[in-house]
Order: sequence, then structure tokens, then C-alpha cells
Amino acid sequence: MQEVALTRSLSFGLDITEGEPANLREASLEARRIRNEVNRLDRQGWNWDDIEDPVTERAIHVKNTTQQLIEKALQEIETYHEHKDNDRLDWGRPRTYIDEPYPVRMNHNEGYALTLNEDGEVEFRISYKKRHFVRGTLQGSPDHLERVKTALTSVDWRVGTAELVYKHDEWRLHVTTTHETHTVASPDTAETIVGVDINEDCIALAAMTREDGVIDSTVIEYPDIKRVRHEFFTKRKRMQEAGQSAMDAVVQTEERDFVHDQLHKVSRDVVEWLSQFDTPVVVFEDLKDMRDDIDYGTKMNRRLHSLPFAKLREFITYKAAWNAIPSQDVDPEYTSQRCPCTECLHKARTNRRKKRFKCTACSFQDHADRKAAVCVCQEWLWDRDETVPSLNTLPRVTKVRRTVSGPGGGADPHGPIFDSGVNRRGTAAQASSGEQVRRELKSVAPSEG
Ligand SMILES: [Zn+2]
Repeated sequence: MQEVALTRSLSFGLDITEGEPANLREASLEARRIRNEVNRLDRQGWNWDDIEDPVTERAIHVKNTTQQLIEKALQEIETYHEHKDNDRLDWGRPRTYIDEPYPVRMNHNEGYALTLNEDGEVEFRISYKKRHFVRGTLQGSPDHLERVKTALTSVDWRVGTAELVYKHDEWRLHVTTTHETHTVASPDTAETIVGVDINEDCIALAAMTREDGVIDSTVIEYPDIKRVRHEFFTKRKRMQEAGQSAMDAVVQTEERDFVHDQLHKVSRDVVEWLSQFDTPVVVFEDLKDMRDDIDYGTKMNRRLHSLPFAKLREFITYKAAWNAIPSQDVDPEYTSQRCPCTECLHKARTNRRKKRFKCTACSFQDHADRKAAVCVCQEWLWDRDETVPSLNTLPRVTKVRRTVSGPGGGADPHGPIFDSGVNRRGTAAQASSGEQVRRELKSVAPSEG
């Protein structure tokens, strides 16, 4: 077994019994001021190491809260520098004139503290400024409350930093908890190798055993993530041009929430699927080279398409680890272009045409993404100097399509899908969940393999 640290983020409402919401507002406006101040000094050419002392000196927050905020602000500037050369993206330097609440990041038992009271409630104490507190109890889902209580009472768990945020007209506390010694199975004992191929509109999975070769495959499609990100990009661009920077920030948050939510759901589907196999190991290919598979027209496209890959992979790894399932990487080695037939292994760019793979040497054909997932399994075995089972027959691919607004519905780009989770044009049945997951069997059995 391997030990890994797992972090979970929990979200709570605040039932205030001492102090008032105005105090929390004061704290978050001060956080904004600190963040703006860091930006101002950075623009004036200050050395980042010299920024901390004067800013901490003048802040009303307790010292380590201010330090957390300075770090967060510097992180933003760093992100800006990473993306600034991208003309089409117009990332934008963090602005210094915004005067809205900014998340207050705090260390546990310093800027904020949680305790379990005799009634089994979780009490909070937030220092909205030095020696001034807002107190009350956390409100939240039974699941999140249970988890934070476990974190407060169990030796294996630790309560970490929290952020006080103002969202949808409500003050909330986002608390991170970490399990320090969670164990996952060793990949050496894995009996089922699950290869993963992540694409901009779908994820393909192939399960392989040493005895039976490929035993199952699925392709989970998520066309809405790409579409919605494009829509948000256009919307933000327009707002920036109109100088609506505050709205722009709101839209950016909405986009992030939407994409996160979708990726979480996809990752849950993935882990559910792979959990059906005996002692699986999840195998990804190295992210850096994934880009080679996609025709990126512009730098903006690259950013637009590359971000969810890393997130999706992170979510899958994380959720798999909770089920004690290990994850591993292999070098890509042309997994998208290589023929998976063990007696052929021909590599050529022309092998792949959209979603269909056809080997120009041996005429083997398959769904291109499933085939890539199969190649990932093979690479993993080769990396370990193991024999790769020969590819006789491949199972049919189950396709699962995850959409927000229903097939063919096409969400209104400015519609209310993020407020309510549904598209206005959705049917009543769709409106209840706002989601559609279609499962269908597609016959894409290989030929002449
Ligand atoms: Zn071939």
C-alpha cells in the first residue's frame, strides 16, 4: 500500500450568533484592499520579498491572514504573467480599483477556528480584524458537516485553511480538510489496467487484463464543457470591451463553477466505471504531449482546451484514490498514432482521421479514442517489461453522453443555465435534474484486426 495525502473542500453557511454580516464584509473589503495594495506595489516595481512587511503592518487582519492574502494576490499576478502574451485571450492584469468583497483566506486556529460543541454542532470563530470576532455555528449538508466533525475529532484528519467568501448574497466558509495517511493499493498488484485517453470533448477508457486482453471499453462524451467555455469566453471579452470589470469577474466565477461541476460529474462516472474491475490501476499518458493530438489554431485555443485536461485528470486520480485505486503515468509514445495490433505497431500521423483510426499498414480499424486508451494500457505493461496480450477481438464501446441542456437543445449562450442549473428551453423532465446522461451501445468493433 502507498500512503497519499487527500484534501477535500467543504462548503458551509454561517449562522451568526455574535457579531454581524457587516463585520464579515469589513473583513473581505480589507482583503480586497490588501490584494489591491499588493498589485499597486508590484506595478511600482517593488521586489516581491519586500512587499510583505509594509502591507502586513498596515492591515487590520491578524498577521497570518494577511500573509495568506498577500500570497493569494501574488499568485494572481503570477498567473497573469503566464498568460499575458496570449493576445487573443486578453487575460488582463489584476485590477487595482475593484472594491468588492475578496475571499479572506485564513489558517485554522489562527484567523479562524472550528470547535465541536456539546450539542454536536460545529462552532466557528472568525477574526474579522485583530482581536475582534464573529461567532456562530456552521450550516451545511449532513455529508459536509459529518466530514468536518470527523476532521476535528480524528487523528488521521487535519483541518486546513478556509476561505470566507460572499456568494449568491450569502456568506460562506470553504474549509479544506486533509487525510494525512490515506492508503491506496500498490500498482504492482493491479490485475486490471485501465487506460485513459482524455480529449476536448470526451474521455475514452479501456480495461485490460493480462489473461484476456481488452475486456471492456467506454467513451464518456461531454460536449457542453467545450461549448460553454467558448460562450463564456465571448461573453467576457464583450464585458471587458465595455469596461464591465466587476461583471467580468462574476462571469469568470460562473464559468469556473460550471466547468468544475461538470468535470466532477465526469470524474465520478469514470471512477464508477473502473471500480467494477478487480484491483484496477488507472493509467494516464503524460499531459504535456496530449496537445500534439489536437489542432490548436491559436494560443487562446490552447488555453481554452488544455485546462480541463489537467483538472479532469486530477479529479479522477483523487476520486480513485478515495477508493484505494492507484493512478500512474506512461510516456505518450504516439499512443494516438500507433496501431495497437501487437504484430503490427505501425506509427503514422495519417493513421488517425477524426474519431476513426485506420492503420495504413495492416488496415486495422477502431474508434480512435478507445484505441488510444488501449495503447496506454499496452505502454504501461511495456514500461514494466511485461508481455502485452495480443489483440484478438475488441469489445464494443459503450458511449455515455453527458449533456446539460439535453441532446440537440443547445443552451442559450446567455441563458439562465447557471442560475438554475437548467436551460429555459429544457423539458420538465430535464428541468428536474438539469442533466442528461444518455447511455448507448455503439458498434465500433474492429475489423480485420
Ligand atoms: Zn497496423
